[in-house]
Amino acid sequence: MRSKQVIVIGAGLGGLSAAISLAQRGYSVAIHEKNAKIGGKLNVLKEGGYTFDLGPSILTLPHILGRLFERSGKHMSDYIPIRPLRPHWRNFFEDGKVVDLYPEADLMAAEARKVGEDPARVVRFLKYSADLFDLVNAGYFEQGLDTAKDFRRFYGLANFLRFDLFRSMHGGVKRFLKTPHMQDIFDYFIKYVGSSAYHAPAFMNCMATIQFRYDLWYVDGGLYNIALGLQRLLDEIGVVVHLHSEVTEVRKQGARVTGLVANGEFHPADIIVSNMEVIPAYEKLLLEDDAFMRGLDRFEPSCSGLVLELGLDCQYPQLAHHNFIFSRHQREHFHTVFRKRQLPPDPTIYLVAASKTDPTVAPPGCDCLKILPHIPYIDDAHPLSRDDYMALKERVLDKLERMGLKDLRRHVVFEHCWTPQDIREQYYSNKGSIYGVVSDRFKNLAFKAPKQSTKYPNLFFVGGSVNPGGGMPMVVLCGQNVANNVVAWDQC
Ligand SMILES: Cc1cc2nc3c(=O)[nH]c(=O)nc-3n(C[C@H](O)[C@H](O)[C@H](O)COP(=O)(O)OP(=O)(O)OC[C@H]3O[C@@H](n4cnc5c(N)ncnc54)[C@H](O)[C@@H]3O)c2cc1C
Repeated sequence: MRSKQVIVIGAGLGGLSAAISLAQRGYSVAIHEKNAKIGGKLNVLKEGGYTFDLGPSILTLPHILGRLFERSGKHMSDYIPIRPLRPHWRNFFEDGKVVDLYPEADLMAAEARKVGEDPARVVRFLKYSADLFDLVNAGYFEQGLDTAKDFRRFYGLANFLRFDLFRSMHGGVKRFLKTPHMQDIFDYFIKYVGSSAYHAPAFMNCMATIQFRYDLWYVDGGLYNIALGLQRLLDEIGVVVHLHSEVTEVRKQGARVTGLVANGEFHPADIIVSNMEVIPAYEKLLLEDDAFMRGLDRFEPSCSGLVLELGLDCQYPQLAHHNFIFSRHQREHFHTVFRKRQLPPDPTIYLVAASKTDPTVAPPGCDCLKILPHIPYIDDAHPLSRDDYMALKERVLDKLERMGLKDLRRHVVFEHCWTPQDIREQYYSNKGSIYGVVSDRFKNLAFKAPKQSTKYPNLFFVGGSVNPGGGMPMVVLCGQNVANNVVAWDQC
């Protein structure tokens, strides 16, 4: 019997994971990717001896990625070289305090004392986080739950209170941690999904456990080596990847999709999996009407980002591999980005200096920096200009120079910068979002769209716009769950 043809739109990590998982289940799988290389937001820029991760730079929960290899009888370590980092992050505050994050209790206790936090409170917060993680992981993550009905069936009504549903993420942090420094640090775990700690539900505090229990990992040579490792696996298991192949239409007949058009050519399919986000795919490929599209409004995009890469002719010894430079008023920062939707006057900045632990990513004696403040997604009714974004860039550089990177501008020998418009153009993400759908207790309670189309049962979605949402491990898990859903639907 011929195996069924699955076509995946997009070679982001979610698309790759779905393609690999479906090929492992016996489907014939092809991917169409509009760009010149696989990986989607997992992207790289090499220039003048510098290697920059243009997208993700922190790998968490690597065992989820590892399953893609194990299910083909292989070991991830033969494909992707990873190692844990110490410290996890370095946090810089405007008052001059510096705090490192360590998963080792004794080291973390010493860091907490630096800002006057009782280490016992950190321990209690991490226990709270671990309980939330175990709860969320058992069903929402690992079972791939999508709907309120799925939740009721898996968790039962009695378990709902354990999700701490009446608090925000910040409310959960504040219950345990008393110093503004520690509150800011643990609030900012929300950066993994590009949302606001003041608006995300408390169960998002599960994210601290992702890092404290399962560690924080680096991929030697840069994170794009994940994509190169997956490329080898794709080749070995016979998944066909068409690059430079933009999908412009998904054809449908009644309640079924029948195939798609890429580069002007029709490709029939039994099943389509879209790694293009839900809203742009329904709008641009399926041309759904306004009434249908309005039903998707609650899946508002996560934040976007200003992605700035700087090659330096020197090194700043005070930096760790991962650094957070905090806003003086983080609550206001969140409010400005996620409610007022304006560029923040004083953003919290994520700064990666991979050259601190990997000498291959910069010339000797030099640092390569990736700098990422979170900023609002694109408002098409009132778009910002490149000059607006460049003004923000100058504010970011001012803040970094003020907070210890002395004469930073004078040491820049290479610069590259992407605005939300560039991000949208590159990945076709909804309004330049970098993590898919926002996690907001009032808009969607942190639920994303379901993985199976509500309109066309043989159309599935994978990636940051569907459950469980953005971030590398989550979209890889999503791809594995999509394969389970496809098989279950196909066999019934
Ligand atoms: C700057 C930045 C920093 C980040 N940092 C981290 C981090 O440190 N850790 C972490 O875990 N996550 C991080 N993330 C988030 C993480 O990168 C994403 O959640 C994840 O990679 C998204 O994967 P995805 O499967 O949703 O698809 P995407 O990566 O969005 O890929 C979608 C693919 O589909 C293609 N496509 C879209 N439409 C079409 C079409 N019509 N035809 C053909 N192809 C199409 C696109 O070109 C793209 O290749 C970061 C993201 C960014 C941008």
